[in-house]
Amino acid sequence: MTRGHTVGVIGAGIAGLACARELVAGGFDVTVFDKGRGLGGRTATRRAEPDLRFDHGAQFFTADDPLFREVTDDWLARGVVAEWIGRIIRLEDKTVIASSLEPRYVGMPGMSAMAVDLAVGLCVRTATQITAVTHGAVGWTIASEANETVGPFDTLVVTFPAPQTAALLGSHHFGAVASTVKMTPCWTVMAAFESRVELPWDGAFVHDSPLAWVARNSSKPGREREADCWVLQASPEWSADHLEAPADRVSKDLFEAFEDVIAGPLPLQRYAAAHRWRYGQYSEPDERRMLFDPRMGLAVCGDWLAGGRVEGAFLAGVRAAEAIREHREQELRDLWARGGP
Ligand SMILES: Cc1cc2nc3c(=O)[nH]c(=O)nc-3n(C[C@H](O)[C@H](O)[C@H](O)COP(=O)(O)OP(=O)(O)OC[C@H]3O[C@@H](n4cnc5c(N)ncnc54)[C@H](O)[C@@H]3O)c2cc1C
Repeated sequence: MTRGHTVGVIGAGIAGLACARELVAGGFDVTVFDKGRGLGGRTATRRAEPDLRFDHGAQFFTADDPLFREVTDDWLARGVVAEWIGRIIRLEDKTVIASSLEPRYVGMPGMSAMAVDLAVGLCVRTATQITAVTHGAVGWTIASEANETVGPFDTLVVTFPAPQTAALLGSHHFGAVASTVKMTPCWTVMAAFESRVELPWDGAFVHDSPLAWVARNSSKPGREREADCWVLQASPEWSADHLEAPADRVSKDLFEAFEDVIAGPLPLQRYAAAHRWRYGQYSEPDERRMLFDPRMGLAVCGDWLAGGRVEGAFLAGVRAAEAIREHREQELRDLWARGGP
């Protein structure tokens, strides 16, 4: 019923790919665009020297919702993800407190594995930054940074962080909704040392420090043969206060904070790089999951409409696809009720 209905999905993060996958399964003709060279957005994996690899965005994910549990079980069965059994603690004023025992899953061998799996069989155009979208009589046209115009598409789905969504959609009321949402930044340092950092834990949620999270990336499954790689993530407050600081200054400050957390010196650095996630996370509970304007054929989804996190992004994408499909099926039923095309 839906064949021939074209959909442009902007963003190949978890939300965009989950949405596209669901639409393709429903018979829609879907093209996904992403400005990045790789897939996954904030579930990214950064490769450095041949033996260094870092999950510098999402660290792990949890699965509570029954639908997302089902998908996670399938990923587990096929080796796309694995459970991270590392010792994860909370550090409060240097006191070690046990963290929750909820299963934590990671992509294999990097966090981008889920996105790569979702994208199988989809038409995805990477390295394509979308700069403008226009709605006209024939549907949506999309303009890229390279001055290419693509389309028209019957339906458009926008899946990136709220501030970028607001900038793209401008005067549409979804742009206004997105402009009220504040996402917190996150400075992340990726580090490898000349010798192993000896600590009795693999990951720590840190309090009362510039850092909010530190983890031995190489303690995750599938990374055991890699060098001892660490990911240090600053708190939202510290990241906001140092948003425009130079990357090397950020690395230095966060290494000092790490030494303070472990109350001792770190081995000599072998590799260090800092990455700024300007629109890192949104952690307010929000159950809308997606916004859909059937009149214009416009859907907006992403983690910021679904409580943040990988699970929320996935469910947001699926719900957007369901809304588009239900609307299209209703349109076709109405058409046939009036005597057909
Ligand atoms: C540092 C950090 C740590 C995190 N830790 C966790 C965690 O441990 N567990 C967890 O569950 N979640 C975590 N999250 C949150 C999780 O990563 C996100 O909730 C989820 O990945 C969001 O997916 P998304 O598809 O909504 O958005 P995104 O992943 O941001 O996808 C949007 C995509 O749109 C693309 N894009 C943007 N602008 C354009 C444009 N103009 N043209 C074309 N493409 C464009 C981007 O390149 C990106 O690929 C973390 C996030 C960060 C930043």
